[in-house]
Amino acid sequence: MTATRVLVLNSGSSSLKYQLLDMRDASRLAVGLVERIGEQTSRLKHTCVSTGETREQNGPIADHDAALKAVAVELARDGVGLDSPDLLAIGHRVVHGGMFFTEPTVVDDGVITEIERLIPVAPLHNPANLTGIRTARALRPDLPQVAVFDTAFHTTMPESTARYAIDPRLADRYRVRRYGFHGTSHAYVSRRTARLLGKEPSEVNVIVLHLGNGASASAVEKGRCVDTSMGLTPLEGLVMGTRSGDLDPAVIFHLARVGGMSMDEIDTLLNKRSGLFGLCGDNDMREIRRRIDEGDREAALAFDIYIHRLKKYIGAYYAVLGKVDAIAFTAGVGENAAAVRQAAIAGLEGLGALVDPELNGARGDEARLISPPSARVAVAVVPTDEELEIATQTYALVGKSN
Ligand code: AMP
Repeated sequence: MTATRVLVLNSGSSSLKYQLLDMRDASRLAVGLVERIGEQTSRLKHTCVSTGETREQNGPIADHDAALKAVAVELARDGVGLDSPDLLAIGHRVVHGGMFFTEPTVVDDGVITEIERLIPVAPLHNPANLTGIRTARALRPDLPQVAVFDTAFHTTMPESTARYAIDPRLADRYRVRRYGFHGTSHAYVSRRTARLLGKEPSEVNVIVLHLGNGASASAVEKGRCVDTSMGLTPLEGLVMGTRSGDLDPAVIFHLARVGGMSMDEIDTLLNKRSGLFGLCGDNDMREIRRRIDEGDREAALAFDIYIHRLKKYIGAYYAVLGKVDAIAFTAGVGENAAAVRQAAIAGLEGLGALVDPELNGARGDEARLISPPSARVAVAVVPTDEELEIATQTYALVGKSN
């Protein structure tokens, strides 16, 4: 019998998200989440997709090892345990793969060492991702573990895009360059958009706008990323839920010298207390829209700043790509906030992009066009699916040799 199941693990510092997929038809068998690992109030929420049954477990889960063991028990209860011969591999989300990892990679000791070496450029994410890998390896040492990197899709960016305008020797010594993030989502959404247009990814140029709590834009030329808005870290680029996105780097010197703030304080300010939250006290787009409807000027200004930055990137990527076939909106805000899509595309008629208000307002879970058929540039809403993309890449890598 051929094994066709892939378990996808997305391991955060205190959480473990997972999905079990059967890659014969890319169907989900189980999905779940362990939260607040290491606290007294840990919670495991598990759903068996075929029966629709959801089970919750509350109480302390000490570490990732205990979390994965608890997940294994839940999967076994559904008859799809980790010891099943149908399980082909485990696919792990790894945030930072640097320049080294351009593709999904089967994990061995050397790969773990290299992911560890990247911790200085991804101090929050890579250690957590590694914990997930180590835990899964200990539980099923015989099973292929595949690392799928958030940065990999962006490694096709030309040097002219990836380099900052600083001394290259200094930059190389400290690995300072533009890596980009959300790559798994940008890869999935750009390909799905091509399919929506009835084309191959190699036939179209797409601007992908991944607008979640974190947000990034990318310019994808014939299936390859040629530019993206995040840089050395996820701080660069668009206005986000709590991150400032682009600002004059001298703001940092100014806050340190004149404002007397420490580097850690500025780091926290720009990553956790800026963006929509910093501007108006809310980072949830639903709340911001509700406040705007009630006449709140602070929320309206935050929205306008968010949209202005988005438009600047759309315009920049038109110029980078030369010809644009589609603009695709994805992630929590991109998939759900019709007002954001409408405002971001408003005024781009001259560039061929427009939105049909009725199509834009209609809700749906499927990839869909929201531009009228007459538009030269298609505008699409494409729900992202990073777990499916990780499972697909894992299966493509390991399934062949199975
Ligand atoms: P993500 O990081 O992709 O999970 O996106 C989370 C963000 O999506 C939230 O912070 C909200 O701002 C936004 N969001 C989720 N649902 C909606 C909705 N129905 N309307 C507007 N924004 C939404």
